[in-house]
Amino acid sequence: MKAAVLDAIVTGKTRVVGIFGWPVRHSLSPPMQNAAFRAAGLDYVYIPFAIPPAKLGESLQLLAGLGIAGVNLTVPHKESAIPYLHKLSKTARRVGAVNTVRVLKNGNLEGHNTDVIGFAQSLQRDAGFKIRGKSALLIGAGGAARAVGYALASGGAAKVTIVNRTAQRAYNLAVFLRSVARKNLTVQIVEPGEASLAEEIAQADLVVNATSLGLKVSDPVPISLRGLRPKTLVFDTIYNPSQTRLLKAARAKGCKTCNGLGMLARQGAASFKIWTGRDPDLSLMMKTLRRCLSRHP
Ligand code: NDP
Repeated sequence: MKAAVLDAIVTGKTRVVGIFGWPVRHSLSPPMQNAAFRAAGLDYVYIPFAIPPAKLGESLQLLAGLGIAGVNLTVPHKESAIPYLHKLSKTARRVGAVNTVRVLKNGNLEGHNTDVIGFAQSLQRDAGFKIRGKSALLIGAGGAARAVGYALASGGAAKVTIVNRTAQRAYNLAVFLRSVARKNLTVQIVEPGEASLAEEIAQADLVVNATSLGLKVSDPVPISLRGLRPKTLVFDTIYNPSQTRLLKAARAKGCKTCNGLGMLARQGAASFKIWTGRDPDLSLMMKTLRRCLSRHP
């Protein structure tokens, strides 16, 4: 990896892509993308760049001059990057967040959001779940919840119920989803402690955790699972640990479950395609993620 980076800088032969984050050390995208580039026989290298928020603008403006083909953006840059981009995909514009930047031939920067398609494809292909006409309970109202909510709304869900610790953020997400939804989507909010939460869970075909509760093994389940029925699919956007307390509890109730690993791999695969025009080996990307996680859980 280090020799390839040096070669890229010295000769300009290898195409450089990467990820901007702060912090970025924890990111699994470099091993996942580099494995996919190698397997595809593409002379690309993917490098993590630790970019503090105050340096984001000037770092993006340097991409074209340095010959960098594109970058992923992770926390805290997905929204703040937008003013520095020349063009946005429809999804990125509507969601108001960018996780993939492509440098165009004329040096302009084009922003995309592949988190939405990562979630939608994982839901459909990893969990075998079709969104159209279904009811979903969405836990969380941050960036991931916005991408998940958009995927549900644009995928034709019949109802999305939002539950979040901070009521104002739940309200903001509801306003956003109503603004992007087709007319037959019902969007509502339930407070975490409200008695009606159990009824909403009982009616839900899908429960998605898009909070960061569960990242620590000691974290509690994000909401009470009273009312959860075995027919409901429970999806956790968290992939490390692979089995959160939420997923374990849902399995104990007989539910089918899915973690966020497929979502992560699929958003990365969509970024790969934006930069190279080719489909990567998705199963290799998933395998690489699992291997990294088993080495550094
Ligand atoms: P944000 O900081 O934007 O949002 C965090 C969310 O978690 C908010 O809804 C927040 O509630 C809630 N939350 C945080 N701590 C608590 C707590 N102690 N109790 C209750 N609620 C809490 O983060 P993101 O949306 O970017 O990320 C959320 C999760 O999504 C992360 O776990 C991340 O791993 C996952 N993710 C997975 C991806 C994948 O590809 N699999 C991609 C992106 C994210 P409040 O509004 O009240 O603060």
